Amino acid sequence: MSCRSALVLVAFLAGACASAPPERRVIDDAAAAVGGADRIRALTALEVSGSGSAPNAGQNRMPDDELPVWKVAEHTRTIDLANSRTRVKQLREAQFQFAGATVQRVDQGLDGDVAYNATAEGTMTRAGDAAAKDRRIEVLHHPITVLRAALDPAAKIANLREEGHDQLVDITTARGDAVTLAVDQTTHLPSRVITMSDNANMGDVAIVTTFADYEDVNGVKLPRRLTTMMDKYLQFDLRVAKNSVNGSVADLAAPDAVKSAPAPAPPAVVVTAEPVSKGIWWLAGSGNHRSIVFEFDDHLVLYEVPLNEARSKAVIDKARTLSSKPLTTAIVSHHHFDHSGGLRVAVAEELTIVTHRANEAFFKDLLARKHTIVPDALQTSPKTANFVWVDDEMTLRDKSMEVQLYHLLDNPREGTNLFAYVPRDRMLVQADLYDASWNQHLWGENVLTNLAQRKLKIDRDVPVHGVIEPFDQMVKTIKAKPTIAGTN
Ligand SMILES: [Zn+2]
Ligand SMILES: [Zn+2]
Repeated sequence: MSCRSALVLVAFLAGACASAPPERRVIDDAAAAVGGADRIRALTALEVSGSGSAPNAGQNRMPDDELPVWKVAEHTRTIDLANSRTRVKQLREAQFQFAGATVQRVDQGLDGDVAYNATAEGTMTRAGDAAAKDRRIEVLHHPITVLRAALDPAAKIANLREEGHDQLVDITTARGDAVTLAVDQTTHLPSRVITMSDNANMGDVAIVTTFADYEDVNGVKLPRRLTTMMDKYLQFDLRVAKNSVNGSVADLAAPDAVKSAPAPAPPAVVVTAEPVSKGIWWLAGSGNHRSIVFEFDDHLVLYEVPLNEARSKAVIDKARTLSSKPLTTAIVSHHHFDHSGGLRVAVAEELTIVTHRANEAFFKDLLARKHTIVPDALQTSPKTANFVWVDDEMTLRDKSMEVQLYHLLDNPREGTNLFAYVPRDRMLVQADLYDASWNQHLWGENVLTNLAQRKLKIDRDVPVHGVIEPFDQMVKTIKAKPTIAGTN
């Protein structure tokens, strides 16, 4: 029974209820609306299955275009509430032109603080602590789990406020995780859960899961639609086909071998420098995002500051060891998040940014965003960005070096992409036009058409992704029959 109904029915209880702090009363009323605090505490398991869509933020053709979407054909989240374990199994299909496997299975678990991933063959490996934290927070983005966490006497409830038709409270769980719960003032049902999080490109972002279409399952109210946004971008829209409570949860424990394995540390950032021609270096090393350095008369120019601050700072530092000439400029090939993740650190390092003009509003917004949760170099010491906008083409040239930049035209995936050409070496430098290891080369013909239209005589491809190859080989691979899209 909620305080509200107790107030109506039994006068003397009013005193007891009124003594509960108002932010606690929001939780108590929400628990009552969902099925009662005792019933919520007594639940042992929860399973949510359905289907939906999961767009890819930062991978659209143009910065303002619709996001490419994974259709999530099957999604099942099982939660062992009694033992703090969860497992998510998902089957997703790319609804866009994609170079990797277009059908993918995801199977991820969390057992207490141990995150693990499972392959289709059932092999389980331990995942890192960051994954464990992300998954713990993800679990809290459901009415039942967030209310159970809030009802724990060790949780702190604070900062009651109103927003539109909702009341909001901040919850710090017994484990120390911070989430905000919004509750509808009329129905007292949870309307959304909000977590602040860090994104490498966007900095401080609100991850908001909205709950709708509640149904009654064994006396508990459960949402049939869960919609998760990262800021303005939809991350996952789940339509629930089946909610069930207190079912079997046999397979959620991490095996002993996984539990006793150390949590893998994030891979070290390694940057190697391989000379590929006079005054040109290919910076490879860890991962599969490379950068290229060009040496001009009195300065160096970098093509690509990829992924994130850690990778791009290491790349910038490495470039500065290659010559006594100052590194002054970074060409950002295109706006996709894994290729623009170093934009902010490049500006913090006072490099001039050369990129396609269509990126202007998007990049200015990325530079203006707050990065307070994980402060980056630009947050700590703000700098004004210096841009050079490229439209169709631009040539950087002095006595030592000539680099031509061209806008990739009419490509289905890449709307802002600038590739480079070094006429002296008949060398192509490119990001996302081609990687020998891709499953299929769906936009390969478009790339070859672009290179032909620009009348480029190419001997060698020096890529951001993949390996350096003779151009003949690149053409042969693009023209070969594509591999059948498989699962991985
Ligand atoms: Zn791309
Ligand atoms: Zn890429």
